[in-house]
Amino acid sequence: MKIAVPKETKPYEKRVALTPDIVKSLLKAGWTCIIEEGAGVSSNYPDETYRQAGASIASSKAQVYSEADVLLKVNAPSAEEVQLLKPGAIVISFLYAYTIPELVHVLQEKQISAFSMDAVPRISRAQKMDALSSQANLGGYKAVLLGANHLAKIFPLMMTAAGTITPAKVLIFGAGVAGLQAVATAKRLGAVVEVTDVRPETKEQVESLGGRFLEVKSDEGVKTEGGYAREVSAEYLQKQKELVAKHVADADIVITTALVMGKKAPILITEDMVKTMKPGAVIVDMAVESGGNCAISELNNTVVKHGVTIIGESNLPAHLAMNASDLYARNISTLLLHLANKDGFKWEMEEEITKGSLITHKGELVHGFTKEILS
Ligand code: NAD
Repeated sequence: MKIAVPKETKPYEKRVALTPDIVKSLLKAGWTCIIEEGAGVSSNYPDETYRQAGASIASSKAQVYSEADVLLKVNAPSAEEVQLLKPGAIVISFLYAYTIPELVHVLQEKQISAFSMDAVPRISRAQKMDALSSQANLGGYKAVLLGANHLAKIFPLMMTAAGTITPAKVLIFGAGVAGLQAVATAKRLGAVVEVTDVRPETKEQVESLGGRFLEVKSDEGVKTEGGYAREVSAEYLQKQKELVAKHVADADIVITTALVMGKKAPILITEDMVKTMKPGAVIVDMAVESGGNCAISELNNTVVKHGVTIIGESNLPAHLAMNASDLYARNISTLLLHLANKDGFKWEMEEEITKGSLITHKGELVHGFTKEILS
């Protein structure tokens, strides 16, 4: 079977789905690989490195798509790109299918079997395929560095002959994969770190990294599903706002990572709260693509409002394209080798990882969660 890797076309994207090393291992397992010219250049993998690994290089997008038995991508293909595929071809990429009903429809019409990397179950067995984690981890690290770059202060305590510099204060909303990496990175740089999350079990994880946990006292049991937080009530959010208000006002950097699966991101920092912040403070809104945790962040823009720099970069992993592509390539190839061998896909429809990640198959929308959200 032929694996095809096109060049990503989404704005600000620098990643590529396969790296030359992973191409080599897939060829060894009996697959053939075709890579679009220039696909790896932004990740520092020139065409020559793929050629040396044994892949062929296609000079046009149309060729990559039309020859694909299995198309491996980072972001979802566009509707026009899906039309270039053979009927019955297989696509594996991030899809966030519940956000793109029109594309799901096109995939169904074209009889494409589409697996979504963001839907791979977060179970131990699938950890090597967990691209959400590999990318969020890098994003959390980069968020701290970006914030630090925009701050006219250093992070660590510094005692000098000219006086003592107190450490920077970093406040983090959300202690998932990105948030915990942000805690670790900010601590390593010497900041004082505070964190809030709706899932009580994150307290221990935050504290083990040296962060201080701001706990919302509430009788409301926060529901989780597959480890993900479900939406909390307006009353809970109000209590959280009251708890964190003075910490927001006191912070040098606020990093927000709070997401609720299948929903718009909760607004955790209102414009009024931004007004209370110190001049020169920085907010990095990692949830900006899902609507934002800060009411006045702007998608893919860095703006200064009320004296506060608000960074709305939607794709932080792409700032670390080399590592991000390396890890993504390992995630996606592990999923591929779980689902298939060189002779074809196994189609074990009740197997947990297949069932969790397969969105469309034989013209049907087969994914339970996506069906539930889109119906
Ligand atoms: P996510 O990106 O979906 O959300 C980020 C964080 O935001 C979560 O911790 C969530 O609880 C938090 N959040 C939601 N609403 C909030 C609010 N109002 N205020 C503050 N925080 C809020 O999370 P993720 O990083 O993808 O992790 C999701 C879950 O998956 C976690 O439980 C994680 O431990 C688990 N996980 C499991 C595995 C595995 O077992 N293989 C791997 C990775 C992650």
